[in-house]
Amino acid sequence: MSSAPQTRAIDFDNAKLQRLGFRQLQNVAQLPADLTQLRQQLGLQLQTSLDAEKILTIFFRGIQRLIPLDGLTYDQSSSDLHLKLGERTPVFASYTLSSEGEHLGELVFQRNRRFAELELTQLESLLTCLLFPLRNALLYRAATQSALRDPLTNTGNRVAMDQTLNREIELARRQKSPLSVLMLDIDHFKRVNDMHGHAVGDEVLKAVAASIKNQLRNVDRVFRFGGEEFLVVLSNTDREAAVMVGERLRQAAQQLTYATPDHPITLTVSLGGATLLPAESAASLQLRADSALYVAKREGRNRLTMAG
Ligand code: GH3
Ligand code: MG
Ligand code: MG
Repeated sequence: MSSAPQTRAIDFDNAKLQRLGFRQLQNVAQLPADLTQLRQQLGLQLQTSLDAEKILTIFFRGIQRLIPLDGLTYDQSSSDLHLKLGERTPVFASYTLSSEGEHLGELVFQRNRRFAELELTQLESLLTCLLFPLRNALLYRAATQSALRDPLTNTGNRVAMDQTLNREIELARRQKSPLSVLMLDIDHFKRVNDMHGHAVGDEVLKAVAASIKNQLRNVDRVFRFGGEEFLVVLSNTDREAAVMVGERLRQAAQQLTYATPDHPITLTVSLGGATLLPAESAASLQLRADSALYVAKREGRNRLTMAG
């Protein structure tokens, strides 16, 4: 006799979650609650996400069933996470969150009128529901971020570059907006390593990456393409604007001096730029920027060449 294996699947889609009790939570979400009920419900709701911003939004909405607030701000510098919900007010109660020596951020409750002692005690009790979900979300955020970063230069890595480029190309097409990329390569970088050693070379690389990031708007993205080569993705940027940005990057690199124990190092960079053509792929756009960079190198370095 053979017995069929029993496999069961539970698909926790929205409909099922509601049947399992989450609809109840949503329906009561507007009603006032007592502290015990609220702690129980928050305990469940805060486990439904690993996204720190979503968790804090659920928390902000939830606690207002007991303690009315006008706003909440949250800052966690090492994760580069800054959130502002509602409004900033003259009155506030501020908490530094930590767990087992780990800094979990600064949370500020904002309100137009003073907090009563009881309300502060209740807020503190509710904060304990936030601690573990928030810590997990911060760990998750750190893990996903480090998977997309180049640790030396703190720019995006190749995985991030491919994701961003594909997304930006799709967006540019949908919005009929221009998109340009710049491939930047440090000139004669091998000499820096040869003359000053690899460790100094690393510092110079970091400084060049920082200088590129300094020159760009927030929406622009910098990626380490390879050794001493970076790709800059310029959204909503046409050919002329890309030339201006490229020139700015070139001049900034030229003006930087890197102090070493022996003597200062100066260097230059070469750039190749390309603007997205209709129906062009990410690979082709990169290739055209790379060929333009090759021309800039061949024609003497310390210059920007745009692909035709
Ligand atoms: P060109 O002007 O033609 O670009 O000359 P170059 O010397 O910059 O180019 P080449 O490609 O010959 O050499 C690149 C050098 O970059 C060689 C390699 O040792 C160095 N490099 C690549 N990655 C790193 C890194 O992470 N740290 C350091 N210190 N050096 C690196
Ligand atoms: Mg080089
Ligand atoms: Mg190179």
